[in-house]
Amino acid sequence: MDEEQFKAASRDMTEYITNYITNIRDRRVLPEVEPGYLRPLLPDHAPDTPDEWSDVMADIERVIMPGVTHWHSPQFHAYYPTANTYPSILADMLSDAIGCIGFTWISSPACTELEVVMMDWLGELLGLPQQFLASSGGKGGGVIQGTASEASLVALLAAKTKMVNKLKEKKPDLLKDTITSKLIAYASDQAHSSVERAGLLAGVKMRQVVSNDEFAMRGPALRHAIQQDLKLGLIPFFEVLTMATSVCSFDNLRELGEVTQEFDLWLHVDAAYAGAAMVCEEYRYLMDGVELAQSFNFNPHKWLLVTFDCSAMWVKNANDLVDAFNVDPLYLKHDKQGLAPDYRHWQIPLGRRFRSLKLWFVMRLYGKQGFQAHIRKQIGLAHQFEDYVKADQRFELILPVTLGLVCFRLKKNNEVNEALLKNINSDGVMHLVPSKIRGTFFLRFCVCSELTETYDIEKSWQEVLKQTQRVLQQN
Ligand code: PLP
Repeated sequence: MDEEQFKAASRDMTEYITNYITNIRDRRVLPEVEPGYLRPLLPDHAPDTPDEWSDVMADIERVIMPGVTHWHSPQFHAYYPTANTYPSILADMLSDAIGCIGFTWISSPACTELEVVMMDWLGELLGLPQQFLASSGGKGGGVIQGTASEASLVALLAAKTKMVNKLKEKKPDLLKDTITSKLIAYASDQAHSSVERAGLLAGVKMRQVVSNDEFAMRGPALRHAIQQDLKLGLIPFFEVLTMATSVCSFDNLRELGEVTQEFDLWLHVDAAYAGAAMVCEEYRYLMDGVELAQSFNFNPHKWLLVTFDCSAMWVKNANDLVDAFNVDPLYLKHDKQGLAPDYRHWQIPLGRRFRSLKLWFVMRLYGKQGFQAHIRKQIGLAHQFEDYVKADQRFELILPVTLGLVCFRLKKNNEVNEALLKNINSDGVMHLVPSKIRGTFFLRFCVCSELTETYDIEKSWQEVLKQTQRVLQQN
């Protein structure tokens, strides 16, 4: 493809993308294909000679779209959101064109330096304490990870190294393996599965602490668990606090922060979805006590209008990461070392994309007010759906709505609710996923697409009513 062909193809693609997004309501949210649908639609082998661009374009509708779940449809209410916005798509184009791998400062200085500044801008927008920001001149700063799962693992590994080093300093005879075998980390029984997985990957014990009736983890429960484990000779070292579990409950940050300080544990805040809401001052009460944490993470690619992947992580002391992840082969050394971050020490892979361009474009083209309007609108839409649920005596809520998620069910047994969900998803008008908490099956309705309007919520509710009628007739 030469330059002129690229320009023409880009016009085709831009046209295709804008049509796709503008007319996304016309598409069925969940595809109807069966596993293996795609192979028969393609030749058995890669072409010997180049295909025409027009044929490639034509195959998007023929091969790809039948198997796409339309995450940006206003009737997509599953999981938590992921974003797609034009500024972010443009930034990804530029990132691909520059195509640098910014693992050290010298490998592409703009890639590192823009990230440092953007993470300060973003941290300030969220109201994070100064210690987390590089601009404070302290040891803190932000880094873009791929996902919240990676951030939890990175924090856990850093905390593990820190505790091992601390104990070895006190008692040099202690073997590293002996210490590691006694380390224990904590998270609520409602924490995301990626937290348990971080424990598995890091080879440390992870204890689930029972959450309360509002599905929140409280300080006394953590203190009790730690005291029990200390009696057993274990070494508590790490706690993950969840802001917005799968039912959108919130662990108590101040209480857990105080307990982690008392016992010298690293506190990591996993705010994958909820973090975005901190751009609105009225939701900051949910992170009261954040100054007690060692690390904080949320996904701008979930609810803050940045395309996947972009997971924002801040630490109070970046040396904790560098100490845990630093290996220094000659070919990665450079003579400006120490004057700017070498982000390879802050993450698991070596390679990294120029993801801060997305933050830059999106923050500039929305501004703080654009972010706040987006979050407030979506929370308002969730309350609209919540009001429908509350007004219909056949339904109940699992928890009152705090952000953009409504957890609800028919006041019937699990089987009836399972049937309701199945009917909704097989009709294809909207897409929901379920969850189960303490044996109770329920449906999760999340406001996901930036395109969602009041009439979309009304349409989704009408679909719930239609399928409810069907299910209640059969049960
Ligand atoms: N943590 C929480 C609280 C989440 O809600 C999610 C996903 O929804 C994750 C972690 C996993 O996020 P990621 O896919 O970025 O690893």
